[in-house]
Amino acid sequence: MEKFVYSFNEGSQDMKNLLGGKGAGLAEMTKIGLPVPFGFTITTSACKIYSDKGKLDDEIIKDVYAHLEELEQVAGKKFGDDKNPLLVSVRSGAPISMPGMMDTILNLGLNDVSVEGLAKKTENDRFAYDSYRRFIQMFGDVVMEIDKKKFDEVFDGQKKKVGAEFDVDLTTEDLKAIIDGYKKVVKKELGRDFPQDPMDQLMEAINAVFRSWNNDRAILYRKLNDIPDSLGTAVNVQSMVFGNTGNNSGTGVAFTRSPVNGENRVFGEFLVNAQGEDVVAGIRTPQPIAEMKEAFPDVYRQFDEVAHILENHYKDMQDMEFTVEDGKLFMLQTRSGKRTAAAAIKVAVDMVNDGLITKEEAIMRIEPDQINQLLHPNFDPAELSSAKAIAKGLPASPGAATGQLVFHAEDAAEWKKDGKKVILVREETSPEDLAGMVAAEGILTARGGMTSHAAVVARGMGKCCVAGCSAIIVDEESRTMKVSGKVYKEGDKFSINGTDGSVYAEEIKTIPPELSGNFATVIGWADDIRQIGIRTNADNPRDAKQAVDFGAEGIGLCRTEHMFFEDERIPKIRRMILADTEEERREALKGLLPYQTEDFREIYKVMGERPVTIRLLDPPLHEFLPHNEAERKQLCEQFNIPMEVIEKKTIELHEFNPMLGHRGCRLAVTYPEIAEMQTTAIINAALDVKKETGIDIKPEIMVPLVGIPNELKQVKKTIDETIKKIFEERGEKLDYLVGTMIEIPRAALLADEIAEDAEFFSFGTNDLTQMGFGFSRDDTGKIISEYVDRGVLEEDPFQSLDQHGIGKLVEFAVQGGKKTRPNIKLGICGEHGGDPKSIEFCYRAGLNYVSCSPFRVPIARLAAAQATLRNSENKN
Ligand code: PEP
Ligand code: MG
Repeated sequence: MEKFVYSFNEGSQDMKNLLGGKGAGLAEMTKIGLPVPFGFTITTSACKIYSDKGKLDDEIIKDVYAHLEELEQVAGKKFGDDKNPLLVSVRSGAPISMPGMMDTILNLGLNDVSVEGLAKKTENDRFAYDSYRRFIQMFGDVVMEIDKKKFDEVFDGQKKKVGAEFDVDLTTEDLKAIIDGYKKVVKKELGRDFPQDPMDQLMEAINAVFRSWNNDRAILYRKLNDIPDSLGTAVNVQSMVFGNTGNNSGTGVAFTRSPVNGENRVFGEFLVNAQGEDVVAGIRTPQPIAEMKEAFPDVYRQFDEVAHILENHYKDMQDMEFTVEDGKLFMLQTRSGKRTAAAAIKVAVDMVNDGLITKEEAIMRIEPDQINQLLHPNFDPAELSSAKAIAKGLPASPGAATGQLVFHAEDAAEWKKDGKKVILVREETSPEDLAGMVAAEGILTARGGMTSHAAVVARGMGKCCVAGCSAIIVDEESRTMKVSGKVYKEGDKFSINGTDGSVYAEEIKTIPPELSGNFATVIGWADDIRQIGIRTNADNPRDAKQAVDFGAEGIGLCRTEHMFFEDERIPKIRRMILADTEEERREALKGLLPYQTEDFREIYKVMGERPVTIRLLDPPLHEFLPHNEAERKQLCEQFNIPMEVIEKKTIELHEFNPMLGHRGCRLAVTYPEIAEMQTTAIINAALDVKKETGIDIKPEIMVPLVGIPNELKQVKKTIDETIKKIFEERGEKLDYLVGTMIEIPRAALLADEIAEDAEFFSFGTNDLTQMGFGFSRDDTGKIISEYVDRGVLEEDPFQSLDQHGIGKLVEFAVQGGKKTRPNIKLGICGEHGGDPKSIEFCYRAGLNYVSCSPFRVPIARLAAAQATLRNSENKN
């Protein structure tokens, strides 16, 4: 028969799923001989039965009785006894730590009789009655779900009545009066008496813990943290020890090392003459644990030793709860301690150096996304704790920024010149906002998803960005925005958090990132382990240099259209787009050629012999057309084109779905001269740098948005012929590759045919997701977040690759590509290339590299090592 209740001496850490984290920790500590008050754990399987049937089985209840008897024997005390009563704590404990559920009931077992027993035993009437009134209050609140305020009214009423300033001024008689008042509250609210039978109290408490598994807060927390509902919680029933019996007692929480910076010393807080809840609830201010050393030198020594034993046993930093009763130490909990990224890295390196864990274990302990904390500025935690977010958008590019609101890119640049810090707010950004984006501390947009212009460009720059914040209504004209009916204007101080999407209407201090030597050490270990390459998406020498500094092994995507964002160039590319004839277009292209060649030279110089994938122009036209009168006027004056022509052409080029319009290779197929110009720049720059530095430059020319094999065939012909001509003219040569993006579902399906011309594939999972789902990248952010809220989608497929659906297209294309060309080079350059879960998928799918924005390169290196370690058994 299945066992539903385990005494602490029957379990172990390995039984975490059954006993919950707390129960397994208590069992393990008992097993290794540490001082743990005895007790038992009711399993998560019992919780599942409770959830299914809405009540506990008789078998389980019988088992609880039997274990209670054992507990009475071990403790030498009896439930409800008038001389030596057994009191217990009842705590929940799921396999994964889970706030939101019922947490703790202390002093269970107290009633009108046993309170006398406790008074006699401790020779302290006041203590006994104070414990009893606390118990009724806690039980009434968390088990009986009576509004806390009702109890507070009784308590405060008594204090007022007798003129007590502090709780400690209340006498035993006052406490008895309060207990009477509390009982009346229970009777009035529930129509029944406060349970006097300790066994009834215990059963009610156990039921309440199981019930709380399915309360709204707990369900929401599980949803937000991807915790399966089926896990269930366990219940721990443990003999009470008292930290509040006098000045020789106390309670505390501590970490074996600093959870803030990883420093190797016990770190925590302690409160003399108090129960655990006082520390957690912040009712009294605890002292640093170091002071315990002075107050209780013997106990401290014992505690320090226990901390070392636990850390060596678990081989990880521990977070512990303990109580000292009359000078004797008892351990109440131990678990792996939550820590900052800086602490995680220092602890991991120190433990490897001390031979406690292997490098592989160290790598697995660090949360890749947490590394973000180290690469970007963060808010000062002290200031953040009192700040309140007024809106939430998508966490498009991590970091924290604070500054004054501006609504136009030019203003951002101007204000910056005047030494001001600004947050640039736009409905959505477009290429000509670039200078303003560079000048701003952070970018906030009302529209656009995780792959919108603002998001992609901000991530590339490592700049904080909150995108698609639909709660803000931007009025760029009047330089104001409205949030929940309140108007904010230019110059107002705001802060945004690109790591979680929060927006604050106040200034919050930021602290700069700091990279330690330990960081380089851990990432170096990751490089030794990982079996998938890490490249970067970079369109300029600055980003390329940043990425190389972060360890990028090549460029996986250079978006050439981004190279025309700068002020001086954008009119030139507009001229090219607006050209009516081939001749006009060739003329405009001539103007762009020197810029392109020079840009590529600079990028090659930074990258050296690392491969550089350059993608032919892929401008969604709506991002590049002149947007307003001023921009049309500028074109008109600069290129001497009549205004009517510009207006007519703009109307002609207007597309209803620019993302599905005349972009990508469709441009190179219809206007081969564009591909010719770009190829010329790519190859000439490579030959120049090769000549200058002697380094073999490795350009990889990538054709975007192929969905029809013939598209690639034709563009490749243009590329090859252009290169042949250059080689002949210059009498020089180099190796180059021509490949394509796989970003249209049809291309994935016809990958075998496409591979006849493509020497490499790079998966453009932004478009592949857009077109695979039929979700517009720029418009559906809000729908997707609603879908996630409603449980239609588990997560935003633009953030983490939809392995179930879009992943199938990737796998199918990998197979097709390899069938035709077994050595085909495979990579990914959609934003998913920087997402740890997607990186693991890419590794399993057999891709050679992932490419991500520069600031995600270190995260990708670590995630790639973890993917290798997690999958090493199934691979090869
Ligand atoms: C993609 O579609 O995944 C991609 C990398 O290209 P872009 O985001 O420039 O469309
Ligand atoms: Mg694309």
